[in-house]
Amino acid sequence: MTTMKNIPFNIPYRSENEMAYVNEAIHHGHLSGNGPFTQKCQAWFEEQYDFGKCFLTHSCTGALEMASLLLDIQPGDEILIPSYTFVTSASTFELRGAKLVFCDSKKDHPNIDVDSIRANITEQTKALVIVHYGGVACDMDEIMALVEEHDIYLIEDAAHAIDAYYDGRSLGSFGHLAAFSFHHTKNITSGEGGMLVVNDVTLTEKAEIIWEKGTNRAAFFRGEIGRYEWISLGSSFSPSELVAAYLWAQLEESDIIVSSRLNVWEKYAKGLKELKDSGHIHFLEPDVSKEHNAHIFHIICSNGTERNGLIQHLKNAGVRSSSHYLCLHQSPYFKEKYQGGVLDNAIGFEKCLLRLPVYPTLDDDDQYYIISSILEYYSDR
Ligand SMILES: *Cc1c(COP(=O)(O)O)cnc(C)c1O
Repeated sequence: MTTMKNIPFNIPYRSENEMAYVNEAIHHGHLSGNGPFTQKCQAWFEEQYDFGKCFLTHSCTGALEMASLLLDIQPGDEILIPSYTFVTSASTFELRGAKLVFCDSKKDHPNIDVDSIRANITEQTKALVIVHYGGVACDMDEIMALVEEHDIYLIEDAAHAIDAYYDGRSLGSFGHLAAFSFHHTKNITSGEGGMLVVNDVTLTEKAEIIWEKGTNRAAFFRGEIGRYEWISLGSSFSPSELVAAYLWAQLEESDIIVSSRLNVWEKYAKGLKELKDSGHIHFLEPDVSKEHNAHIFHIICSNGTERNGLIQHLKNAGVRSSSHYLCLHQSPYFKEKYQGGVLDNAIGFEKCLLRLPVYPTLDDDDQYYIISSILEYYSDR
């Protein structure tokens, strides 16, 4: 009797060193934030990816909240955001009273459409939030030109985008600010975790104060002042050393993580090519200027019924696949406030996009089983 397959959608990567480093943090005795592991992680990112000053946070959401405080977002400030993204790309600016202006996706990819950005920029636009979906870069040449022309802030929600590039330059180094996630669904994880990158040097000192709960504690520890005081808005954003120690074990193996994921990604692209060529499904192989990190392998089905049928077919075969975002402009929270037009491409991805399992430990047998289950679904279509 053959046993039923049980292939999960995601298995978080494990290095062998997490426990050793957590132990080291415990024995070192500095358990709160901003200790040796935090500083090691931050310095690694600054060096490895040519980022500005990096601040570890509890989550990408926390990093985006920091961004919202840092840019001093006020009621009435307009923030442009793709509708097809995670809730907190938007809710963190809503929290400061911003006016959210949702943009459409590109026709062939969930990334924000440059024409949609252009159509929505006004005198009140304060910032543009972009999401590099699946670690595939947005159209950075056009976006950087627009941001400069209109003198607005650029925030990269780089939650998917660790170790991914555009024309050789790392994602997260383009925006005035960038936010990363180390949630357990992301390529590199500390369970929950995140980071704010501050590339605009005029914002660095203010970021340090917001990160330190609105105090000048960092300057105090550097011996620059005699005592530390409450000097601005801020909150508790830095994770404990236990979290940073766990993260460090993963950062050390980031090359292995990305190369093994790319290996899986390419096997899907090869195995599903015939379905793509016959027009049953669509997926985009990013052009060479967009060196991605295989965060997501997604296919686009012809319609929602077919996509949902495929999810069920795979589930019956013991394979977990997953749809993705629900458009934020149509969310129960926001739909009454939404004033823009129909966002056809974003709605299309909500209905038709399907993500397949991608993780370093997905073995060949399981992956071929997944691919043949998909081919089987389409065999009579
Ligand atoms: C995961 C994710 C977030 C939130 O990350 P947390 O670390 O869970 O706060 C934000 N934006 C995008 C695009 C994400 O995928």
